[in-house]
Amino acid sequence: MKLVFASNNLNKIKEIQLLVPNSIEILSLNEIGCTEDIPETANTIEGNAILKANYVTEKFGFDCFADDSGLEIDALNGEPGVFSARYAGEPKDDSKNIDKVLEKLKDKNNKKANFKTVICLNIGGKQHLFSGIANGKIIENRVGDNGFGYDPIFVASGYSKTFAELTMQEKSEISHRAIAVKKLIDFLQNS
Ligand code: IMP
Repeated sequence: MKLVFASNNLNKIKEIQLLVPNSIEILSLNEIGCTEDIPETANTIEGNAILKANYVTEKFGFDCFADDSGLEIDALNGEPGVFSARYAGEPKDDSKNIDKVLEKLKDKNNKKANFKTVICLNIGGKQHLFSGIANGKIIENRVGDNGFGYDPIFVASGYSKTFAELTMQEKSEISHRAIAVKKLIDFLQNS
């Protein structure tokens, strides 16, 4: 069975291919000839995952899954959320995004936040959503060099290190993305 992952991120694709049953072949967007930028114009993380998966299924006729993630901060009413990648504007800049979050949170007592991933799977004419949440808090300064995005300012609940201080292996045991991917794999293995 062929299943498209609506991404050209080779690392993500390889990771998933190792986890799914051998009977499922994961194809990238390039491999199905989809070279255009898929619109990500929804105003929620779920909405963007659905848009991306539907784009591939409707235009290319493949079963497909797509993911979308973001950081949601309680005291900022869920911002940056769906705007996480470009919170400080174009072009995408992780460091400026962190500066903006730290500035906005300066005078707030509530530092609670969570990362969220939603995966939308279109398969056999049906749609399934899988979500993963990592709860935690935002700290006042950057700590750590690993990872990407908001990792240097996010500490998961029950941990004292930021995501950027964890190894890739440690992060992948608790991350929002890993939780959502595990639900997707469980579904594919059991259906
Ligand atoms: P994407 O949908 O996986 O591309 O994530 C969108 C944006 O959310 C990224 O560009 C980051 O700013 C932020 N983000 C998502 N996941 C993580 C993570 O695991 N660590 C830090 N930032 C993340």
